Amino acid sequence: MSYDTLVVTAHPDDAETQMGGTLAKLADAGGRVLLVDLTDGEPTEFAEHGARARQAAEAARILGVERLPLGGRDRLLVDDLEARIEVASLIREHRPRWIYTIGEACVHPDHVAAASIARAATFLARLGQWERVEDAEQLAGQEQWAVDRLFFPHCKMEPPWSEFAFAVDVTAVYERKRQALAAYGSIFQPEGDRLLALYEAEDRYFGRMLGTGYAEIFRSASPLLLDDPSVILPAVHG
Ligand SMILES: [Zn+2]
Repeated sequence: MSYDTLVVTAHPDDAETQMGGTLAKLADAGGRVLLVDLTDGEPTEFAEHGARARQAAEAARILGVERLPLGGRDRLLVDDLEARIEVASLIREHRPRWIYTIGEACVHPDHVAAASIARAATFLARLGQWERVEDAEQLAGQEQWAVDRLFFPHCKMEPPWSEFAFAVDVTAVYERKRQALAAYGSIFQPEGDRLLALYEAEDRYFGRMLGTGYAEIFRSASPLLLDDPSVILPAVHG
C-alpha cells in the first residue's frame, strides 16, 4: 500500500484540528492520505476507553482519509530510538511525496515529542547503510525513501503565527471539517465547545485575511519552489 501523504501527529484529532479541510481537499482530488496517530489519545474527558478510537475512525471516513493508530501512551509520548525507527520504517513502506507534522510545539509535551520524532524519521528514512547500524534491522531491509516536502500545519494550542509559507482555502469543505471534529464526542462538547470555537475562529480569521471564508495555514521545511507562479490565488491587497 502506498500513500501520497502521511500526516504524523500525537493524538487522534490533531490532524483534523490543524488541517482537516486540507485533508478533505487532498482526498477529494484523488490523493491517498494516511493519518498516523502516535498515541491512543486515552483517557478522554467525556467517554470510556475505546470511544476515541471509534470516533477517530469515523472522522477519517468523513474526510476520505485512512488512519493508522500506533498505540503510544497519551501524555507520556517520548522521542526515542524505537519511535524514530518505527516512523522511518512507515515512511519507507508507504513512500509518500508529502509529510505533514507538527512544526513547533511547546504547550503539550506529546506534540513536542511528535514533532521531533517525525522530523527525525523523515531524515532517517532517506539514509542508507542501516545494516551497519546496531538496533536498526527494521530499516536495513527496506529501500531508502526521500520525501518531496515536509510541511507543518499550525497547532492551535500554540500562539498564533504572524508568518507562514502558504495557506489552503478550505471554505468549500469547511462543513466536512466541522463534521469530522464533531465526531470526537469523547473530547468536545456537542454544543458551545470552547476549543472548537477557538479552532474555527482561527480558520475564519486567516480565511478572511486572505479574502476567502476559511483557510488553514502551513509552514514549510524548505522554501516553496513553483514551476508556474500563475497557480497562486489572488490576495486582498495584491
Ligand atoms: Zn494533540
